[in-house]
Amino acid sequence: VNGSPLVSASTRLLAILGDPVAHSRSPILHNAAMRTLLLDGVYLALQCTTEACPSLLRGIAQAGGGGNITIPHKEIAARALERSSASVQRTGACNTYWFEAGQVCGDNTDVEGFSQAAQSAFGDLRGAEVLLLGAGGAARAVLAALCDMSVALVRVQARSPQRAAQLAGIATGSATRFEILPPGASARADLLINGTPLGMHDHDAWPAQLADVEPGTRIFDLVYRAQETPWVRAALAAGLQAVDGKEMLLQQAVAAFRRWWQRDPQLDVMRAALNSTD
Ligand code: NAP
Repeated sequence: VNGSPLVSASTRLLAILGDPVAHSRSPILHNAAMRTLLLDGVYLALQCTTEACPSLLRGIAQAGGGGNITIPHKEIAARALERSSASVQRTGACNTYWFEAGQVCGDNTDVEGFSQAAQSAFGDLRGAEVLLLGAGGAARAVLAALCDMSVALVRVQARSPQRAAQLAGIATGSATRFEILPPGASARADLLINGTPLGMHDHDAWPAQLADVEPGTRIFDLVYRAQETPWVRAALAAGLQAVDGKEMLLQQAVAAFRRWWQRDPQLDVMRAALNSTD
């Protein structure tokens, strides 16, 4: 397509590792971007268990490839690296890996992906009070980005308060206060973020009820689907400002592409690919 090279013996393998992974839009984004630049690579989605993830990641990287890591493997992936970026060290989560100078390297481009998407949707968040739902790999990146943006307070609410407590270190040394909100409790927020997978599937419960949400609260759903998620649609219908995870996906993908190819993808090509099919 578009004069792209065929897959050959020199083609580089890029792969997203996750479970589930069939929902991922990353192959569509990255294959479109590589084709446009005539880069000799192919990007696949590979479902794997948490146990299999570290050896698969290292094997693909050592063969000259790279890729992304998604739910629920970002934390185990961080521990499989030989060289970790500052973002990985800070968050304990890795979403991008590659091979460089004889080492398996990793970064967490969700941090800059979230920052850019949140700032383009909501502007300056300095001083804001944030309620962050979930305490997994994505929530770690979001918390790091929120601290960089100098929000005043992040309350983390997760079904496991113990897991939420493990995020405290990310905010240490920043101007952002970190609190844990017990499951079932509610709190006001300027910005309400869904960092759980709720909304990926049709019959999922909502990450949080919107009935009690104060007017003016902004909603960021990390989950993305072809159309807006049902939660985002309901928030918009209630007159709230709300965005889903597509812009974050795009921005973290741009940053990941740079790590693998040392060049910029065409943003309009990636954006069109993201919006193209279901
Ligand atoms: P993860 O590491 O598995 O963490 C998921 C978190 O959500 C954990 O705190 C988990 O709690 C909680 N959770 C899982 N199922 C739940 C449920 N049914 N009810 C309440 N909480 C639940 O996953 P992740 O990598 O952080 O990803 C989370 C979501 O963000 C996924 O949907 C992913 O696709 C999305 N994401 C989007 C982007 C983007 O660019 N837009 C980037 C990253 C992630 P437990 O610890 O109790 O299991």
